[in-house]
Amino acid sequence: AALAGRIDALMRTVPDYPEPGVLFRDIMPLLADAGAFAEVVGALAADAPGPIDLVAGMEARGFLLAAPVATALGAGVVPVRKAGKLPGPVASQTYALEYGTAAVEVQPFTIPDGARVLVVDDVLATGGTAAATVELLESCGATVVGLSFLVELEALGGRAQLPGRFVDALLTIA
Ligand code: 5GP
Repeated sequence: AALAGRIDALMRTVPDYPEPGVLFRDIMPLLADAGAFAEVVGALAADAPGPIDLVAGMEARGFLLAAPVATALGAGVVPVRKAGKLPGPVASQTYALEYGTAAVEVQPFTIPDGARVLVVDDVLATGGTAAATVELLESCGATVVGLSFLVELEALGGRAQLPGRFVDALLTIA
């Protein structure tokens, strides 16, 4: 609870970014605070549900958290990127956006069969990105053991897109 309060105090809330009507939670001041950054990385690692082989970070803010969490857990790191950013061969998973579709990609040869993977991102919003990431990783033979977020925007219902999954959030915003 103390950590949740600290995260809340260090985040900025930016109206109409990246488009009108969106209330964007900006985590950059939190990452720039050495003590708070270390604390959130430690908490994300401590909350991990059992042994982890790989931490998958979602582009782009997820990368900033996934790498230090991976070293804290003695795990490797795998970037989950937007389409076209990784040299192939890649595995790809498309998902629906409000308007149109998007895709996430990984390099399947970096994921050993049965690897226990923890998915890390900064914010859980509608859950579309996270659900597509789970599907993508499991299509590559991974076992996704859980998903960990700095912040969960509860009103957007992301958790419902991840039924039966271990979902951790250091701060939940109603
Ligand atoms: P979702 O697919 O859950 O709707 O959106 C999650 C993705 O969009 C995450 O990769 C997350 O980084 C980004 N995102 C959505 N809303 C916010 C927000 O308010 N703040 C930040 N920092 N990222 C957001």
